[in-house]
Amino acid sequence: MLQTSSDMRRTIGSYWEAGAAQPKQDRQLIGNAVFDVAVIGAGFAGLSAALKLAQTGVSVCVLEAEHVGYGASGRNAGFCCLGGTKLDERQLIRKFGLEETRRFVAYQVAGINLVAHRLDSWGVRADRHSEGEIYLAHRPWEVTALQAHAAFLKENFGIRARLLTKADLDTEGYGGPGFHGGLHMPYGFALNPMTYLLALADQLRKAGGKIFGKSAVTGMTRKGERWHLETRHGFVRSRKVVLAGNGYAGNVPKWLHGRTLPVMTSVQVTRPLTDAELSAQGWTADTMAADTRNLLHYFRLLPDRRFLFGTRGGIFENAPALAAMHKRAGSEFKAMFPAWAEIEPDYSWHGHVCLTRALTPFVGEVPGMDGIYAAMGWHGSGIALASISGEKVAGLITGKVQPRDLPAPVRSPFRKFPLPALRKLYLQGAYWWFGWQDR
Ligand SMILES: Cc1cc2nc3c(=O)[nH]c(=O)nc-3n(C[C@H](O)[C@H](O)[C@H](O)COP(=O)(O)OP(=O)(O)OC[C@H]3O[C@@H](n4cnc5c(N)ncnc54)[C@H](O)[C@@H]3O)c2cc1C
Repeated sequence: MLQTSSDMRRTIGSYWEAGAAQPKQDRQLIGNAVFDVAVIGAGFAGLSAALKLAQTGVSVCVLEAEHVGYGASGRNAGFCCLGGTKLDERQLIRKFGLEETRRFVAYQVAGINLVAHRLDSWGVRADRHSEGEIYLAHRPWEVTALQAHAAFLKENFGIRARLLTKADLDTEGYGGPGFHGGLHMPYGFALNPMTYLLALADQLRKAGGKIFGKSAVTGMTRKGERWHLETRHGFVRSRKVVLAGNGYAGNVPKWLHGRTLPVMTSVQVTRPLTDAELSAQGWTADTMAADTRNLLHYFRLLPDRRFLFGTRGGIFENAPALAAMHKRAGSEFKAMFPAWAEIEPDYSWHGHVCLTRALTPFVGEVPGMDGIYAAMGWHGSGIALASISGEKVAGLITGKVQPRDLPAPVRSPFRKFPLPALRKLYLQGAYWWFGWQDR
């Protein structure tokens, strides 16, 4: 098996890329190689799967189209929190029953704990802050909905979420003219996602796993007992394959075609804010926050006092569409944080999250494709969920985890969208509908 140094890595303009920990370009696969398991995608899911496999003595490689951190795992906002589906708990209960929904909530919490445990046990300082997360009511009547939600969470899941009045928000440093009350969830923390991701990749290398950069998998065929994964300058033959491309997965293998919906979301980060600027806005809390809109905004004060603000992206990814997306994000930021209206972002970037037709993730073996597994579809909340699901998919491969050990909401294989070519139109329709509801 030959390797060569490859092209320069593609930067994305994120704040994380400017930090001390820099992603590096792993060497490209040149020639042929044989592994027990090949993982497609070097994000939290793929690296977590590969790490667990390598630790169990399985020979494993990760094939990455660009470099570690090129996908959403290197672009996100660093909220290690609950989430992973676009169905709320009531909808989940209707679809899967209370017990399976409880198991799913416990699975999300276990994902958060796993990330915390990894950072602690690896001795990684990832700029952690924020104890839990706060949801902020963007309209006065959303406060009532938050109250009902708190009662519902307590009754069904034993979650003790704390309600905050408008006065509490002002006192506790969550100032903004559009925030009318809040609900503090006692789970999760914020981190520098790139630091965590690079540490994960290092752990994999130490455990004997191999990462190939600039090695997009362009085709897959079954030859005898092994899958044959083609890349530009070589191929890997492996008994098992993990699909972990999430919002960056194309149509390889063909089974994926039309089964996922990549959706853009954008983030901007200001320069460090002064004490005077923070108190002018009344925002001094370090808790990670999101509003109650369907098309939600997510934001937090970073440890270096820059402010991170995220919102949904647009539909198309060409230059004019991206410029319009960042302009809209800027206007929304200024409307929500008027005291900072003159502060232009130092960093703006965007990335893809992965939605599915059922609005739930899938962790399991792909039906009809012997030895192919998937861990994808985190609906914009993948730090915790992709991390734990990567471990679980490794367990499915080694037989240490059985499908029934996973909660039902992550067990259903993706179904095709009807008329997949129209997915962007559906998305446009959903944006209009949700945007109208949010007003
Ligand atoms: C802007 C933004 C903000 C976000 N904020 C948060 C947040 O605060 N909290 C949270 O929990 N989640 C957040 N998310 C979502 C979270 O980042 C993702 O759910 C998570 O990182 C997905 O991890 P992954 O490993 O599944 O996929 P990714 O990290 O996207 O990695 C997939 C990788 O697969 C590679 N790939 C795809 N196809 C191929 C192929 N054929 N061959 C080789 N390689 C391939 C891609 O290049 C990519 O590197 C955010 C996402 C974005 C974009």
